[in-house]
Amino acid sequence: MVDFEGKFFYFCRLNLPSIWLKPIAMKIICIGRNYVDHAKELNNPVPSRPVVFMKPPSALLISNRPLYYPEFTKDLHYELEVVLKIGKNGRHVQRAFAGDYFKEVALGIDFTARDLQSELKKKGHPWEIAKGFDHSAAISEFIPIERVNRTAIEFQLKKNGEVVQKGNTKDMIFSFEDIIVYVSQYFKLQMGDLIYTGTPAGVGPVQIGDKLEGELFTKTTTESLITCEIK
Ligand code: MG
Repeated sequence: MVDFEGKFFYFCRLNLPSIWLKPIAMKIICIGRNYVDHAKELNNPVPSRPVVFMKPPSALLISNRPLYYPEFTKDLHYELEVVLKIGKNGRHVQRAFAGDYFKEVALGIDFTARDLQSELKKKGHPWEIAKGFDHSAAISEFIPIERVNRTAIEFQLKKNGEVVQKGNTKDMIFSFEDIIVYVSQYFKLQMGDLIYTGTPAGVGPVQIGDKLEGELFTKTTTESLITCEIK
């Protein structure tokens, strides 16, 4: 199957105008420590520039599928985040235009092997394996940005029915626009790329059997956008 897909896309690349192509492999760009309260709860300094890392496309977990607790960690954490979907290509995006680069938002859970990440951080090593492992990027369906208050999106995570994280994007250290400007200096933004914009305070561990539910407050209602059971 993988082989077939590879050949198919190779064929598309060679033979069709680029405008016909769907993104083959999007980038999943993540921002760390973007809420003061969360930076403090993990004893991290509040950053003066966005902390950026990436997950591979194989990290995506879609359609409210369960996450199977990975065998390489004993401290798997949830981090609920608002996720932007990039709607047009751009490099070195200027601030005045940054808002044009996303038209849809979702909720995502940035699953993190906290024990592994702490070990790697101590050594000053990259933390990709603690953050980018298979199915570590749960994602809900996307809703149009017009349906939310784009400068103050409220969202919350329930674990087994109890609210454990509450966030509002107005409390982000770096706004959506700041992130687009910063990231696009280094990585070309491409249609379909996702940006996990950071998690508020209240991150914590999950156990097998836990049920997570992410809710987002739109202008008119509360939407349960994402659920994920740990198996
Ligand atoms: Mg995160």
